[in-house]
Amino acid sequence: MSANGDGGSERLPKAHLHLHLEGAARPATLVEYARRRDVPAASLEGFTDLAAFVVAYETARDLIGSLDELQRVAREVAEDALEQGCVWIEVHFAPFSYGGRLGREEALLEAVLAGLAEPQGDATGAAVVLAVNRAHGTDLGRRTLVLAERYAGRGVVGLGLVGDERHPARPYAPLFARAREAGLLAVPHAGETQGPHAVLEALQLLRADRIGHGITATRDPGLLEQLADTQRCLDVCPTSNLRLGVAEDWSAHPIHRLVAAGVAVSLNSDDPTFFGSDVAQEYATAAAHGLPVAAIAAHSLRHSAAPDHVRGPALRALASQTTPAT
Ligand SMILES: [Zn+2]
Repeated sequence: MSANGDGGSERLPKAHLHLHLEGAARPATLVEYARRRDVPAASLEGFTDLAAFVVAYETARDLIGSLDELQRVAREVAEDALEQGCVWIEVHFAPFSYGGRLGREEALLEAVLAGLAEPQGDATGAAVVLAVNRAHGTDLGRRTLVLAERYAGRGVVGLGLVGDERHPARPYAPLFARAREAGLLAVPHAGETQGPHAVLEALQLLRADRIGHGITATRDPGLLEQLADTQRCLDVCPTSNLRLGVAEDWSAHPIHRLVAAGVAVSLNSDDPTFFGSDVAQEYATAAAHGLPVAAIAAHSLRHSAAPDHVRGPALRALASQTTPAT
């Protein structure tokens, strides 16, 4: 997809709030890792639905064979984000999904945090959202929460909820209550493949600060109103939705209705390794479709966990290069 648009929208200072570590790894790096182990490189594009995508994702993750390789993936994710004008990123990471093969989960998290920190300057930064998988049960979820609590304020800024949405959110509500007590953001995925009830559950049961996707909220006018009134940000990923068959095309994507209803949205790439679109391209394509990308970039910063010394200058820079912000 070409990155035309308004000739610069992709360079707007912004926060990238919805991407998954292994899903943002450089393809060339994954191919290199595969060669090292003499295994076939993961097929990065051979999928048309969520189930096949999960298989491709796990194959890519399993190519990472050491803590050093994991740290390099994280560093390159951070470098690519800076290149795309992201002054702040919140990267979903699920250390328990490695099953202990690279060591203890603390060591994995430390490697990721070190890699993300390497290329940062004074006015930029990166953090981790530890991801709980709905399909893996609350015991593993609780272990993830404990790790998140231990690193709250030390690189971990949120607790996420990922995986097949047919597994209800309710059993995870106590974990998110504890996460909030630890000062972490509640940032579950919801409303990607399931209807508006899933978004409502994320708001009511998990008290979500932001929601990953959330696009099916457009089917419920009352919910749209609630989202607009409470200004809970939806971290929307249009190209991901198109590639997984959740939305038909950019013109028909629910983001247009969300914006028209006054809902706060951010633009994100989700898993750029697989979907072939990075966050800069998402902004450029959104601009080409008439979406208010400067306001969207401002939402991404305001709803992030970025510290003031990152968020403040970025918001001021955004205001100085745009007409009065909405
Ligand atoms: Zn996601």
